[in-house]
Amino acid sequence: MSPLSDKLILSDTDLDAQIRHFTGRLDNYPRSERRDILRALHWSRKLHEGQQRASGEPYIIHPLRTAEILIDFRMDPATIKGALLHDVLEDTEVDRSELVEKFGEDVATLVDGVTKIDDMDVGKSARKAASLRKMVWAMVEDLRVIFIKLADKRHNMNTLQYITEDERRLRIARECLEIYAPMAGKLGMSSLKSELEDLSLKYLKPETYAQIKEHIALKKAERGHYLEKIQGNLLQAANQSRMRIEVATRAKHFYSIYRKMKDKGKDLEEIYDLLGVRVLCDTPEACYVMLGVVHRLWVPLEGRFKDYIASPKGNGYQSLHTTVLTEGGRPLEIQIRSRTMHETAEFGIAAHWAYKEGKSPDQIHPRQVAVVKQLQTLRDEGHDDDAGEFLDAIKRDVLRDSIIVYTPKGDPIELPEGSTAIDLAYSIHSEIGEHCLGAKANGAIIPLTRPLENTQTVQILTSPNAHPHVNWLKHVRSARARGKIRAWLNSHDANVLIDRNIVARQKPSVPQEEPSPPPETNESSSSKLETQVLDQEKVGITIGEERNMMIKISQCCAPVPGDRIIGYVSRGRGIVVHKENCPNLKGIEDFDERRIQVDWETASSRTTQRFRIHSRYTHDLFSEIEAAIRKFHGHLISGSLDETERGDLEGFFTVEMESRDDFKKISKSIRAIPTVLSISKVQNFQNRYYG
Ligand code: MN
Repeated sequence: MSPLSDKLILSDTDLDAQIRHFTGRLDNYPRSERRDILRALHWSRKLHEGQQRASGEPYIIHPLRTAEILIDFRMDPATIKGALLHDVLEDTEVDRSELVEKFGEDVATLVDGVTKIDDMDVGKSARKAASLRKMVWAMVEDLRVIFIKLADKRHNMNTLQYITEDERRLRIARECLEIYAPMAGKLGMSSLKSELEDLSLKYLKPETYAQIKEHIALKKAERGHYLEKIQGNLLQAANQSRMRIEVATRAKHFYSIYRKMKDKGKDLEEIYDLLGVRVLCDTPEACYVMLGVVHRLWVPLEGRFKDYIASPKGNGYQSLHTTVLTEGGRPLEIQIRSRTMHETAEFGIAAHWAYKEGKSPDQIHPRQVAVVKQLQTLRDEGHDDDAGEFLDAIKRDVLRDSIIVYTPKGDPIELPEGSTAIDLAYSIHSEIGEHCLGAKANGAIIPLTRPLENTQTVQILTSPNAHPHVNWLKHVRSARARGKIRAWLNSHDANVLIDRNIVARQKPSVPQEEPSPPPETNESSSSKLETQVLDQEKVGITIGEERNMMIKISQCCAPVPGDRIIGYVSRGRGIVVHKENCPNLKGIEDFDERRIQVDWETASSRTTQRFRIHSRYTHDLFSEIEAAIRKFHGHLISGSLDETERGDLEGFFTVEMESRDDFKKISKSIRAIPTVLSISKVQNFQNRYYG
């Protein structure tokens, strides 16, 4: 981390220069509004007089920058004034009535709204949830409150290095990554989202951040050369088809590169698509023509084409995405969209509040915005009764990436990414969820547990005799489905108990491959347990009848989701969950009689494997490999092929499959490709980020 002590010293003349610069940026607003905005600035400056930021700067710099960010979004004058005054209720002597008197009800309500959303970095999940609840209320009332809050966050993240307590700095960065960045994304403000993510990464993973930064700087020259060529090819081809386009190239933002490394198990060196190319066309029709032009220039990678024009994302995002193999088999993602779509992609929902002179902004009601609707549903369904659960539900249901699927009638339904037909069934109606039996996606039967894909049309098949199964918990993503399944199982299935993300089953199945430890004769175990033998039957009955039985996580080995775990029915303390290899288990005298099978309810049944390929040079190796993987129902997550110095091909692939055994079949079938010289497994990249 850079030295924290360097404070910024700003003289009065510097401040005057900053204010002049700010004034210059107000040109798009009519003169009367300009004057009023400056009146807000000068009053705010006076009120914050003598206060300093942690950076040592005069406090007014903070509201000034916050307002500038919103000017970039062309927000209406009330929002700009609200931003300039956003901290006066909290940090100065002014009260709401004075604010109303000077700037009117509208501005006062905005400032009041921002003040109520206190920062969540206080740690306690109860406080966080309380604050989130207020944020939800504020959003439903007026989305401009959130725009100001996001801009406020953006400047605070920019000056985060001046917070000297390590813990607090990390907490703020984490909260930004978990709540505010995804919130910006959900509102469609993609550039703000990327900035918040990159700033979070800088503090949460300083080494990785520095590494990516250095890597990108190193490759700059090579990249420029390559992109110039691509750009030239695109412009020339468009010209021949008499199309008017603009081409923009960019390095992807750091956080998205980091996610690729983490999700796909790649090293920085192996990530070829650090770059993105964006083509802007005049009309939606022209986008499809341009797609044809691109696919004639380079071979598209199968399975990578996405049509967000026909099926926009929940936040309104529209674009065509395709990945093509350019020279040397180097994959490149190309996005094609119209200029209007581009504006929506950059500004998102905020575009509806964008200030247009002479016209009142075409504000849409917050309740028309998908993310607000989802938040409202969670609140209406009472998920905010339990603080921790509400926070989880928001992170899982609302802030996560989502897909849209259609009912047979054509109604779009938005679900968290990774959702299955079970989630869909519950989102239609809990009765349908409780009786779903199977599903059809685009007409073909699919397992209830298979993740749905964006834009599929899905029909749920039900039967009066069907009912929820404990395994469903492993395959649902939405808080709603999870909550309903848990509730159903706890009241209908006497053999299971679900608590704290752990499922305990009556089934006495003691894993056979593991010989039970020899009877313990040592006296060292601290608590003198009674020697009464409890049979499995009784354990089961205890669970079945005692509904108030609790599941506790043992403090000695503190298992976390993903660890192999085992439960122990204690006397009077419910079920205690240990890691399977916890040494303390040996000290428990009647452990064998009292052990009980427990699982993490969210454990995924799917598994990934990375492998390396070495092959003689051939043109279609990529698609052959993809076909081999598909044949055994695997899913290619990532893949890259590169020409070696000797003219061979070398590549790394990551495949997701139903079980480890499938990999044997896949690798056998790849080995059968005539040019392939070798295939070998590569250790999965594992790096828990947080949580
Ligand atoms: Mn602030």
